[in-house]
Amino acid sequence: MSARDQLLHWLDTERDHQVDFLQRFARIDTANPPGDTTRAADLFRAVLEGEGIAHRTEAPLAHAPNLIASFEGGAGRGRHLVLNGHLDVFPVGDRAAWSRDPWSGEIADGRLHGRGTVDMKCGTTALLFAFVYLHRLRAELKGRVTLTVVSDEETGGKWGTAWLIENRANQVLGDCVLNSEPSGVATVRFGEKCMLWLRFKIAVKGGHSAYPHTGGSANKLAAALVQDLLALEAMAPDEPEIVRRTLDRPEVQKAIDQSLGAGASGVLRRVSVNIGTLQGGVKINMLPAECVLEVDFRLPVGVTRASVLEKVRGILAHYPMVSVEELLPGGPEANVSDPTHEMMGHLVRNGAEAQGFAPQPIVSLGGTDTRFWRLKGVPAFVYGCSPAGMGGVDESVSLAEFHHVLRVHTLSAWDYLVTSAA
Ligand SMILES: [Zn+2]
Repeated sequence: MSARDQLLHWLDTERDHQVDFLQRFARIDTANPPGDTTRAADLFRAVLEGEGIAHRTEAPLAHAPNLIASFEGGAGRGRHLVLNGHLDVFPVGDRAAWSRDPWSGEIADGRLHGRGTVDMKCGTTALLFAFVYLHRLRAELKGRVTLTVVSDEETGGKWGTAWLIENRANQVLGDCVLNSEPSGVATVRFGEKCMLWLRFKIAVKGGHSAYPHTGGSANKLAAALVQDLLALEAMAPDEPEIVRRTLDRPEVQKAIDQSLGAGASGVLRRVSVNIGTLQGGVKINMLPAECVLEVDFRLPVGVTRASVLEKVRGILAHYPMVSVEELLPGGPEANVSDPTHEMMGHLVRNGAEAQGFAPQPIVSLGGTDTRFWRLKGVPAFVYGCSPAGMGGVDESVSLAEFHHVLRVHTLSAWDYLVTSAA
C-alpha cells in the first residue's frame, strides 16, 4: 500500500473513532465567555498521548490553555507546516430556543448537534486527526509539522494565537498554515477583510423643539453624518494584481455568491459601513443635545485603516461639533496570502478529487486567527465545513462534510510535505 493509500485507509476505517472524538468534544461546554477550555484540552492531549506524540501546554490564562505538538519528518529537510484550530466557541444565547441540549453531541440525520460544532469543533478535530495520521507516516515526510490548538479565539486571540506568535514564534510561525474554520467546501479562503470600529459623539446646545433656531439638533446632524459615512462604501480598493485577477474570475464570483449569499461578491471587495447603534434624544419635543453613533466599517483587501481614518477626518472637518474615538485601536489590516501559492493548489486538487468539483479561492468576510500569520508574512489558508448555522440556535455539522474536510486537510498537508524542498 502506498503512503497515500495508507492515509486514505485510516481516514476511512477510523471514521467511528473520529466521530466519537468529535462527539465527546461537542459535549464539553467551551462557550466563550467565559472560555474555559481546560477539559477540551485534556481530550486533545489524551489522543496525542495515545499516539505517543509529545506536546506542550502554554496557558497565559490558566482556564484557556493552548496546545502545541510538533514533530520532524524523517525524510530530510523541508518546510514547516502549521495546523491551527480553536477550542472555544460562541455562547449558547437563548437556551430556551434550542430544541436540543446545546452540549448534547447528538447525532441525527447525518448531523452532529451542539454549540460550536460548525465553528469550529468540526475543523479543529479534523486537524487533530490529520496531524495524527501524518505523524504515523512521519518517516516519509520532509520538514516539520506543528499542531496548534488554541483558546481565546472568539474574544480576539490575545491569549491564544496572538500570544503564541508573540511569545513562541520560533515554534509556531512556520512556512505555511492550514486552518479549518467554516469556509464552506466550495471555497478556500486566502485572505480576509478587517474591521474598523468608530464611535462618534455629536454635542450641540439643544433646547425646545419649537425654537430650532436657538440650539440645533444632534440627531439632525447625525442623519447628515450617516449619509457622508455611507458614501465611503464607494472607496476604490487597491488590490494586488494577483488578488484582482483571482477575484475577477466569473467562477470565483459565482462561488462567493453561492457560498455567502447573493451579492456577497460585491460586498467582499468594498468597504461596508454598518451604523450599529444610533442613540440620541430624550423627548419628542426637545432638541437632542447629544447623539452617539457606533459604526462598524469592514475593509476589503486594498483599503487600509489609515486611508479610511483619513477620509473620516476629512468628513469631520465639516462637523466641528462631532468627536470620534476608535474602538479596538491597533487592530489588524485586511490581509491576504498569494492565491496561487502551492498550498492553494493542493487544497483545490484534493477538494475536487473528493467532491467532484473544485473549490474556488476567495477572501473571507469575517476574521480568523489566520490573520496573525498573514500579518507576519506567513501564507495561511482556510478550508472547512459550511458556515450555515454557525453561532445560531440548533447549530449542527454535517458528518459527511467533517470527513471531507479531514480528508482534504490530511492529503493537502501530505502533498505539501512530501514535495517540499529545503
Ligand atoms: Zn471560529
